[in-house]
Amino acid sequence: MRIVLVGPPGAGKGTQAAYLAKNLAIPHISTGDLFRANISQGTPLGQKAQEYMRAGQLVPDEVTIGMAKDRMDQADAAGGFLLDGFPRNLAQAEALDAILKADGLKLDGVLDLEVPEDEVVKRIAGRRMCRKDSSHIFHVIYNPPKTEGVCDACGGELYQREDDSEETVRRRLEVYHSETEPIIDYYKAQGLVVTISALGKVAEVTERAMAALE
Ligand code: ADP
Ligand code: ADP
Ligand code: ADP
Repeated sequence: MRIVLVGPPGAGKGTQAAYLAKNLAIPHISTGDLFRANISQGTPLGQKAQEYMRAGQLVPDEVTIGMAKDRMDQADAAGGFLLDGFPRNLAQAEALDAILKADGLKLDGVLDLEVPEDEVVKRIAGRRMCRKDSSHIFHVIYNPPKTEGVCDACGGELYQREDDSEETVRRRLEVYHSETEPIIDYYKAQGLVVTISALGKVAEVTERAMAALE
């Protein structure tokens, strides 16, 4: 299965992707995670991406599309994937279609996570990420670790993302509305979109998502 996950920052894409990828036995490909891994490794790609991420802007397409394509090639797109955070604008959506088409492939579905803006802001404000494994995602109130600052799953250090500050979040939400939301209509025209509410417990949302993808 080849699936794209869309939704505003803080909707729960990374959290759901970890469970969905496991249930569906497909690799989880997160461009945000890839950028953060490049930044922590100090690669040239990471250095390029960092200034845009800090500002809450999209990293330029020429950097992003190549990185996403490399990762899909590595995963072998024919075997399926769950894309989280890519595509994020129309140019990226068109590039993805072209990449898949070149191999005679297409997307099976686009899962759109719907969450009111006030909830998204609360989710981002309390988000804590694990340094060792980006699929270990916590929240100071909604999903607190047993020991403050320590990942329950692997003992890694928990940290707050630099771009989760209030000011940057506002910018990221604007970018979502202006640049990312149009891809939902693009995919609706292809009959690919299923929209679900991402409110409620994590496991309830996963169940809803699995039912929607059947
Ligand atoms: P969130 O999960 O909160 O939406 P991500 O981890 O997906 O955030 O992305 C963090 C940042 O990485 C974005 O604000 C953007 O700067 C950059 N980024 C991630 N994916 C893309 C993409 N497909 N195109 C451009 N920039 C991206
Ligand atoms: P796997 O063994 O699951 O194929 P690897 O640990 O070999 O994954 O990772 C290969 C590359 O893919 C690394 O550069 C890693 O940062 C990246 N990667 C792994 N998991 C993800 C993910 N969920 N999203 C984005 N990139 C990932
Ligand atoms: P995204 O990848 O869309 O930016 P995340 O998966 O990182 O979103 O989730 C953002 C924050 O919200 C994290 O702190 C996460 O623990 C929390 N979260 C995710 N799903 C839920 C949920 N169903 N209910 C409450 N909090 C959630």
